Amino acid sequence: MGIVGNKSETKPMSRGQRITRRRLRAGVQAVFFLLAPSVYTAAFAGVKELASAIGAGEPLALSSFTAALLAVCAYTVVFGRFFCGYACAFGTLGDAVYALSQQLQRRLGRRLPRIPDAAARRMQRIKYFVLAAIVALCAAGVYAGLSGWSPWDVFSMLTALRWAGAPYALGFVLLGLIVAGMAVKERFFCQFLCPMGAVFALLPVLGRYTRRRENCLPRCAACAASCPVGVETDEDNARMGECICCGACSDICPRRNISYGGRLRDGNAPLLVLLRAGILLALCAALALVRVL
Ligand code: SF4
Ligand code: SF4
Ligand code: SF4
Repeated sequence: MGIVGNKSETKPMSRGQRITRRRLRAGVQAVFFLLAPSVYTAAFAGVKELASAIGAGEPLALSSFTAALLAVCAYTVVFGRFFCGYACAFGTLGDAVYALSQQLQRRLGRRLPRIPDAAARRMQRIKYFVLAAIVALCAAGVYAGLSGWSPWDVFSMLTALRWAGAPYALGFVLLGLIVAGMAVKERFFCQFLCPMGAVFALLPVLGRYTRRRENCLPRCAACAASCPVGVETDEDNARMGECICCGACSDICPRRNISYGGRLRDGNAPLLVLLRAGILLALCAALALVRVL
């Protein structure tokens, strides 16, 4: 693992190394999907709980949901959106649907319509309106009556293998539409609609991927082209909060020009990924324990 400043280390990563890293990421995602599929919904329930308490003028209390929210946010401040890139079940669902859709499109020789990059960047703002609307509805005390609309509640039920029936029919339809969007655009829900994604994007993140422009190859844009959420990897980029720490840009860069947390040249090194995943898994286990106790 090199430190930024060593300009002689410019050998691109081999295809085999990149494949190993993609497989490691898929493996970590599978583990979290199986062992901790509800962390996303628990953290989001924490947002709703806080908004409802503030709206009702009640004192803020530390419940299992608010604990999940605080824990995931604190983790994200330290490690960047590793949770989004490697551990969120909804994000993993999006990656799986998109990969499947790409494969099908290749086999059939037909391409789905593409959302232009500029439009996608504008659409990323929608999630802040979604977050604001849900917070307002919770604060007004009316959100509970609309829970049958919630696609994430339906997703949560499906991953827990239970189904609450007709009251959630609209949420089921919305989930179907979201899955259709996931087939068209990589990380569709994360980029455009996820209210938790909006919370994460606003956090002051320490651990994230940034690049040194001065060391770039002329006319190279490999990092931006590989990014699933359309981020230009720059320290001074106002949209860096969108980065989900997937490491694709750092793996593809022919100059090894992208660093993690401002220091680590290879922030996507397998050991580092396993370390971050291990800490997150321990955190999820602690949260599960809090819920049981
Ligand atoms: S943006 Fe939302 S859905 Fe996507 S990975 Fe992050 S928390 Fe999960
Ligand atoms: S892939 Fe590397 S060299 Fe190319 S633009 Fe990105 S940071 Fe620069
Ligand atoms: S490709 Fe790079 S900038 Fe884009 S989400 Fe992944 S780590 Fe972040």
